[in-house]
Amino acid sequence: MTYQYVQGTRVPALGFGTYKLTGADCRQAVAHALELGYRHIDTAAIYGNEAEVGEGWRNSGVPRADLFLTTKVWYENLDRAGVWQSAAESLRRLQTDYVDLLLIHWPNPRVPLEETLHALFALRDAGQVRHVGVSNFPAALLREACQYGPIFCNQVEYHPFLNQDNVLAEAREHDLLLTAYSPLARGRVGSDPVLQAVADDHGKTPAQVTLRWLIEQPGVAAIPKASSPAHREANLDVFDFSLSDEEMSLIASRACGLRTANPPWAPAWD
Ligand code: NAP
Repeated sequence: MTYQYVQGTRVPALGFGTYKLTGADCRQAVAHALELGYRHIDTAAIYGNEAEVGEGWRNSGVPRADLFLTTKVWYENLDRAGVWQSAAESLRRLQTDYVDLLLIHWPNPRVPLEETLHALFALRDAGQVRHVGVSNFPAALLREACQYGPIFCNQVEYHPFLNQDNVLAEAREHDLLLTAYSPLARGRVGSDPVLQAVADDHGKTPAQVTLRWLIEQPGVAAIPKASSPAHREANLDVFDFSLSDEEMSLIASRACGLRTANPPWAPAWD
């Protein structure tokens, strides 16, 4: 496993995403991922699968201290009371007394950011949360968030078809983690001829080359989701090769502004 180091904390650069995994499938997928060696799991209150994530982890026997566990507060629950209630419910469902990272899932301009972040920092001070972070924050809003206290992470959509230079620059200025969600562009990387050519040169797949491209960037983690056991295994098999500077640039040049997640409540992206 490769790690990213931010604010003195070590985070497994490759995590396991669980969006749309539910029920027994989710429980088995999480247990299998941990058995394979994943030690970073991403869930959210809105995914409706925290109980199964918690059971999958418990069934795996992996010690709590070895796991980096992230969950998120839904954007409609960002007032002080909503944050505390959401966190308490997440911890109960996950069967743990802390999460490593609690994120604001999407910004909500109707609730002062300061109020939400102060609630999150209070949860951190109470020991229920190790680190406070945000998700889907454009660079300018991330800068504002950093005024209120240490932000550990911004989780945003990031893959070869979406340039995130602005957010990356802001993240590096504050020594925070940029976690790439939908790192495989929800499977679309598999049909890109340039990614395929680079993959062929390394005896890898476009998905593997994409994950390698992400985690070779300083301060970037990726959380691919895979309901297929073979995909889960393949996505972890990216530590035995590296990409040249030319290949890194070539892959970055595939950017075309593709956003797979752009709901009505999304902020104005920068
Ligand atoms: P993704 O990880 O980019 O793509 C998942 C898709 O790629 C699935 O269809 C999967 O197929 C396929 N796949 C996985 N590994 C593959 C491989 N090695 N080769 C070929 N295809 C492969 O998309 P995502 O689920 O949207 O994003 C990942 C995680 O990011 C989510 O699960 C969630 O935890 C997080 N996320 C966060 C937000 C947010 O707002 N913060 C938004 C979206 C996602 P199978 O399932 O059939 O294996």
